[in-house]
Amino acid sequence: MSMQYEGGCMCGAVRYVAVGAPVNERICHCHSCQKAIGAAFNARLMFRAEAVSLSGPFKTANSSPNVQRGFCPECGTTVFSGRESAGVLAVTSGSLDDPEQFRPTMHIWISSRQPWLKLDDGLPRFSEAAPA
Ligand SMILES: [Zn+2]
Ligand SMILES: [Zn+2]
Repeated sequence: MSMQYEGGCMCGAVRYVAVGAPVNERICHCHSCQKAIGAAFNARLMFRAEAVSLSGPFKTANSSPNVQRGFCPECGTTVFSGRESAGVLAVTSGSLDDPEQFRPTMHIWISSRQPWLKLDDGLPRFSEAAPA
């Protein structure tokens, strides 16, 4: 049985299908994700870029020279972040049709965690990026 992840933005103009197992599923607390998502963290599923088919009139904005944030210009939903140079694209868990498909395995960039956020899920935490 092959895994498939489908989702899209709030208004439905932007849609995606990701096929196969994610490369990783992480919760990122970095400032850049906080800004781009407009929330305390970015709970995202990363795929090889070629595993994700995007449709609709999405736009991208760079949050750093190497990271593109993809959003719907109609409704503003942040749908994905991409690192073109690394060939990966991470969809936001909240944009999944079934957000319960998200199975996080770690927290990263805990050094930027918002101070009110208490974590007790027992998942590994890394001050910055995960060790290679
Ligand atoms: Zn939309
Ligand atoms: Zn981040």
